[in-house]
Amino acid sequence: MASNQPPLNRRPGTYIEPMNTSTPTLVSLTQSRTVERQVRGQPTSDGDGVKLTRVLTQPLQRRLDPFLMLDAFGSDAASDYIGGFPTHPHRGFETVTYMLAGRMRHQDSVGNVGLLEPGSLQWMTAGRGILHSEMPEQEEGRMAGFQLWVNLAAKDKLTAPGYQDVPPADVPFLTLDDGVTVRVLAGETRGTKGAVTRPVTEPLYLDVTLPPGTSFEQPIPATHNAFVYVFGGAADVAGTRVETDRMAILANTAGADGVRIDAASDEPVRVLIVAGKPLNEPIVQYGPFVMNTEAEIHQAFRDFQSGALAT
Ligand code: FE
Repeated sequence: MASNQPPLNRRPGTYIEPMNTSTPTLVSLTQSRTVERQVRGQPTSDGDGVKLTRVLTQPLQRRLDPFLMLDAFGSDAASDYIGGFPTHPHRGFETVTYMLAGRMRHQDSVGNVGLLEPGSLQWMTAGRGILHSEMPEQEEGRMAGFQLWVNLAAKDKLTAPGYQDVPPADVPFLTLDDGVTVRVLAGETRGTKGAVTRPVTEPLYLDVTLPPGTSFEQPIPATHNAFVYVFGGAADVAGTRVETDRMAILANTAGADGVRIDAASDEPVRVLIVAGKPLNEPIVQYGPFVMNTEAEIHQAFRDFQSGALAT
C-alpha cells in the first residue's frame, strides 16, 4: 500500500527546447569502437503471453555489465500483447521502458499509477522490492517499444523503490546538422542531459534517427560497455553493416573514444545507443530478482512469499 512509503522521486518537467541546427553531427572522435559481435534476438514470450524479442539475454550479462536484459516488442496484432504483464515482483535492479507505439497502464505497490504512451520513458528502481503490473490500454492497433534492465550496485540493491515517469515532451530532443535527431533518454550528448541521470552505472541511452547519407558520432568512456541496437534501416557501425533488428556489441578497443554510425545514401536509419559503467560484481538472476549471491535470491523468494518484499 502507499502508506509508509518514501516520497516519489518523480522529477518536475525538464523539457528542453530543441537546439538550433548549428550543433555539429560529428564530434571528431579519435577512433570509433568497432563491432565485436552481432546478436539477433530470440523470440519469446513473457507476462501473460506477450510476444517479444529478447535481444540481451542472460549469457551476455557479464559482457554487457551493467545491462541485464533488453527486450524489443512490436506487433499490430492485439493477441500478441493483450495479456499484458499482470502483477509481478522485482528486486535488485532497475527496469526502463521506452514506448514507441501503443499505450500501457503501469501500477505498482508504491502507489504509482502511470500511462506509458508513445515516446514516453519509465525508469523504475525496484530496489528492495516492488510489485507492478503493465497492462495494455488498447484493444487494437500497434504496440511497440523496449524494456532495458539496468543492474544496481550491491550497496544499492535494497534501496527504497523509486519511479520516474517521463512524458514524451520531457525527453530532451536535439536536431543536429544534416537533420540527425536525437532523443536523449539518459546520459548526455552534446551538452544536453538526458531525461534520467543515474550516478553509479552512468547509463547513456539515446534514440538516434539518421536521414540517408548522414553520420553520427557519440563519445563513450573507454571503461564503459556499449552496444547499438538497429531498429530502422541498416546501419554502418564503424565500417560494419548491421541490419535492422540486430544488436551490435561494441568492442572495448583501447584508444577508441566513442562510436561512429553512418546511414547509407538510400535509406534512413534508427538506432538505440546504450552504454554504461560496469559494476564488476557477481550477478545472480532468478526470474525477476537479480542479486549478488544465491542466498540473496532465496531471501528474495522468502520475502515475496511472506509479503515482505514490497512493504
Ligand atoms: Fe516488470
